[in-house]
Amino acid sequence: MAFDKLTIDDIELKGKRVFCRVDFNVPVENGQVTDDTRLRATLPTVKKIIESGGKAVLASHLGRPKGEPDPAFSLKPVAAEFGKLLGKEVKFVDDCVGGKIKEAVDSLSDGECILLENLRFHDGEKKNDPDFVKQLAELADVYVNDAFGTAHRAHASTAGIPGIIQPAAAGYLMQKELEYLGKAVADPKHPFVAVLGGAKISGKIDVINNLMPKVDRLLIGGGMTYTFFKAQGYKIGNSLLEEDRIEMAGEILEKAKSSDCEVVLPVDSLIAENLDSTETKTALAEEIPDGWLGVDIGPDSIKLFETKLADAKTVVWNGPMGVFEKKPFSEGTFKMAATMADITQRGAITIIGGGDSASAMKKSGYADRVSHISTGGGASLEFLEGKELPGVVALTDK
Ligand code: AMP
Repeated sequence: MAFDKLTIDDIELKGKRVFCRVDFNVPVENGQVTDDTRLRATLPTVKKIIESGGKAVLASHLGRPKGEPDPAFSLKPVAAEFGKLLGKEVKFVDDCVGGKIKEAVDSLSDGECILLENLRFHDGEKKNDPDFVKQLAELADVYVNDAFGTAHRAHASTAGIPGIIQPAAAGYLMQKELEYLGKAVADPKHPFVAVLGGAKISGKIDVINNLMPKVDRLLIGGGMTYTFFKAQGYKIGNSLLEEDRIEMAGEILEKAKSSDCEVVLPVDSLIAENLDSTETKTALAEEIPDGWLGVDIGPDSIKLFETKLADAKTVVWNGPMGVFEKKPFSEGTFKMAATMADITQRGAITIIGGGDSASAMKKSGYADRVSHISTGGGASLEFLEGKELPGVVALTDK
């Protein structure tokens, strides 16, 4: 799929104030950034701006402040950390709009970089308020969006500014995310396999419906497994169940029978008496005893899923196979991470959705052995649901 929006390579940067929406929504504890993945991911874009003689005006949100300044969500520590990674001073200002901020931006020399304070300290950001958009737009000559993780939100800094400032171009990270996900969905090499896990069917139903006609196989693990089991009349003990989705799960299985998509459910589960227990045993899919609940896919399912992925040429994985945050229940998810690395080495394109599967990939130590790990959980999910992302739609067409 050709990328049909302007990219940072298509626009003039020299001498320009480049408003660059970045995704610096990173975990900060005691003034320290504890995971710098998103900072590193946007380095190529910021380097391009400053090396081309542009003035990089970086803006992001961090966490969920309530539309007013809150020191707990200040981006100040992020400026320092990003400066270290960039190898260059990143100036910081304690607001993102207003006369003082405009002065600071206007006094930048070519090739300099400044980070504005948290956009969500103003409630105009989430409301995409026209006055707030106008104030932000006063800080810029051109606009670049590299914040894939926020592209599914129609906020002032993602959808508002490009309505006023043109050209509006995608940064390298945004481009890379969209090219990987876009190509996987629109023009995959077959067999194309989707692996979906996580807690609930309700969170993934649109992904299932959008991907079923496109994929050759759909492997299902995680908590949503048990609603599918229930739909088949299996005994699921105390496993996670969405009563109101049983019918829908049955319909998906029914639809699969007459489609070209093979839906593969686990054949066994790792079970425990509760989520704090460290004692586990294995149960056949249809026979989880009363008083026990499924916490991970079982050993035979791990093997089955490996087999179903062995010949895959394109794989999208979103959602853990079990309650992987707890060590005794994490094997299915970590084995899946290892399988992803394995099949990538054999030539498959492997794309890991953000959030929990991305963090499992990192914890597994295989993160640099898959094709692409998305930096945006919600955004990648909405993309896989087939939805348009407002932050992308707003960019200038080629
Ligand atoms: P999601 O945000 O829907 O991708 O769900 C991720 C969460 O699903 C993780 O926190 C997992 O602990 C949880 N999860 C995965 N498998 C199970 C399961 N069998 N029972 C309960 N929760 C699960």
